[in-house]
Amino acid sequence: MCSKEKLKDFLSEISENAEFPVFNYVSGEKYSILVKCHVDTDRDAQFYSEYASEWIKKFTKFTKTGWIVRACFPRLKRLLYRKVFTCHHSSFNKRKICEQGSSKDKQCKAKIDFKVKFINRNTIRNDKMLRAGLNLTIHINFVHTHSVRARESYNFLKCSADTDKLFLQYFTTGHTVATAKSYHELVLLSNHGTGNISDTEINPSLRHVSYLHQKRKAQGLECNIADTMAEKMKALEECGGAMRYTDDYSITVVITPFMKNVISGHELDSIVIDSTHTRECVVSFFFAPTPLGALPIACALHSQMTEPSFSQAFFSTKLLLENQTLKSFEPRKIMINQIDEQNHALGAIFSNTTIIVSRASLVADIWKSLCDGEVKIDVKQRQKVMELFNSLLHAANSEDAELFYKDLENNKIVQSITKVKQYLSDIWSKREDYITPNKVIDISLRTLKQFIVHRCKSYPILAMIDVLTNILDKHWCQIIHAHLSNKLIMEMYTKYLPKDKILMKKLEGDTKLKRKMGAIAFGAQTLCCDCIKGKKGMLCEHLCAILHTVEIDTQVSDEKRAFYTTLAGDQEVKIEQVAEPEDYEEQYDQNEYEQTASDNEQSFLIKQEIEHIDPLDTITEDESTRHSSIEIDINGIKKCITKMPSRH
Ligand SMILES: [Zn+2]
Ligand SMILES: [Zn+2]
Repeated sequence: MCSKEKLKDFLSEISENAEFPVFNYVSGEKYSILVKCHVDTDRDAQFYSEYASEWIKKFTKFTKTGWIVRACFPRLKRLLYRKVFTCHHSSFNKRKICEQGSSKDKQCKAKIDFKVKFINRNTIRNDKMLRAGLNLTIHINFVHTHSVRARESYNFLKCSADTDKLFLQYFTTGHTVATAKSYHELVLLSNHGTGNISDTEINPSLRHVSYLHQKRKAQGLECNIADTMAEKMKALEECGGAMRYTDDYSITVVITPFMKNVISGHELDSIVIDSTHTRECVVSFFFAPTPLGALPIACALHSQMTEPSFSQAFFSTKLLLENQTLKSFEPRKIMINQIDEQNHALGAIFSNTTIIVSRASLVADIWKSLCDGEVKIDVKQRQKVMELFNSLLHAANSEDAELFYKDLENNKIVQSITKVKQYLSDIWSKREDYITPNKVIDISLRTLKQFIVHRCKSYPILAMIDVLTNILDKHWCQIIHAHLSNKLIMEMYTKYLPKDKILMKKLEGDTKLKRKMGAIAFGAQTLCCDCIKGKKGMLCEHLCAILHTVEIDTQVSDEKRAFYTTLAGDQEVKIEQVAEPEDYEEQYDQNEYEQTASDNEQSFLIKQEIEHIDPLDTITEDESTRHSSIEIDINGIKKCITKMPSRH
C-alpha cells in the first residue's frame, strides 16, 4: 500500500524530469497517471526497449505487481518508439483456466504504455512539454480486476533479493530473527500451503535470516516504533480498518476490514471476550456470537495481565467501536474467559452488563479441576463426568437438560470435588445462557486461542497487528466460506493447528477405532484430552486431529446467507496440508546455528546474482503447475461418521 506522495516521489525518482499532467489517485491499488519525462533522443529501438524494461522492473518491485510485454510496434511513423505492458493477470497469452480457477488469468486490463516522441520543429509546435525535452510519455492505468494487496503479491516473490528486502522490512517493523522467520512462513502458508516452504529462495534458512539481521544491525538501523505504528495505522485505514494506540505503545486496538464488516451485520447486544496471554503480550478478542461461530469485531493488544492494563485496553476498544458504529457500545451480556483481572476490569467499564464465564472457558476449567493431581478419582471416570457436562451444556431441550443435571447432581465424583460442584450449580442457575446445541462458537473460540498460543507465542504487538490483518482476516473469510458451502468446515478451523499424525491416519482409515478412542482417551465429544496439554484445557494435537475429521452441518437462513456471502468475499475453499512451525526461538537461543562468515557471504553472493534475473522472465510461467502439487485430493479424505450438529 503506498500513499499518493510516496508514489509520486517514486515515479519522479525513476523518470527523469518527470511531470504529471494527469494524476488520478484513488488508493495505492487504484490510479491512473500520465508521466511525461525525458529519455535520451536519437537512440535505437534496442535502447528504448531496455529502458522500458528497466523502468518496469523498478515499478514491479515498488508496487509488488507483475507486468508482461503486450505489444511492440516495429513500424511506427509518428512515434520514435512504443511498447505496451499489461498486468500479468491479463488474459493475454494465458492458457485456459485450470479447474480450480486459480489461474493467473483474471482478465485484468491494467496497462502501462510507453511512447517516445520525435523532437522536431513540427512536433514541438503545440507541445510545451516536448519543447522542454519531455519526450517520453508513460501512461499508467493501474486499475486491476483483482486485489493487489501485499499478501497476494507474495505469490510472485520468486527472487531472493526481494525476499531479503522483505526480511529487512520485518526487522524494521520490530521482528526478531525468530519471529520474522516464523511470521514469513505463516504468510507463505496462508497464501499457498506448504508448496513453497521448502523453497529457500522464498523461505530462506534461519542462518540466512540471522545473517541479514546482523548485516542490518551493523548498519545501525533500529526499529522506529513511532513510524512503524503510524504506517500500520495508515495502511489499515486505507483498506477500511481502524487502529488506535497509546502514547507509550503498550496498548493497541485493531479493527480489521473483516471485523468492520462483521460489526455492520450484527447487533452486538451480546458479545464474547476472550483473552490469551503469550510471552510478549495479551491478546484480547471481542466477538459477535453468530450461527457461524464467534466472529471478531475488535482486538486489543496489550502488555500485561493486570487489571489496569485490561481496563485501559477495554476502554480504548469501547471507544474505537463507538467511533466506528457511531452509537454507544453497551452490550447487555458479555461472555468471557475466566481471568480475574479481566473480569474486574470489565465489571467497572460495563456496569450495567451481565458478565458470565463463557462455555468454552468453563469446559476447560471443569476439565482442569477433574485432572488436578490433588483430586483422587478413578481416571477412567473423568471422561464420563465430562461427557455428562457436555450433554448438559448442549442439551437439545430443557427436559433433556434436566435429566443430565440430575445425573450430575447425583454423581459421586461431582459431589466429591467442591469446585466441580460449584461449576454445576453455576451452570444450572444460568442455564438460559449456557445451554445451547450450537457447538461452533466454542470450537471457533478454542481453535483461535490455540492458534495464538501455538503460532504467535513470541510475537510482539507489532507482529500481532500483521497477523490480524494479513493472516487472520483471510482465514476468517475462508472459514465463513466453508460454512456456507458446508464443506471442509473443521479442516478450515484446524488449518494452522498441529494434529497428531498417527491419530489422523487411524481416524481416516478405521471408523470403529475412532469411536473407541473417542470414548476412552480423547474425548471427541467433550473435546477434553488426557495428555499433558489436554489436561491444561488446551486443544492438543489429538483433539485437533479428531476435530479435523469431524463433519458438521451449518444451516443459515437465506436472509443471513446473503450477508455472510458478502462477508466471505471472493474466497476459495481449499485445504492444503499445513506444516507445523519449528521453534525458531529455541533454535536461535540455543545457538544451534553458528555464524561462519565465509558461508554466509557465499550465500549472499549467490543471492545477489539472482537479483539480476529479469523479473519479467520469471512471471510468465503457468501458475497452475505450481498449485496442483500442494492440494490434497479432498474426496480422498475419508470422513468420520460422527456428526456434530451446529444447530437444531
Ligand atoms: Zn492486474
Ligand atoms: Zn492430547
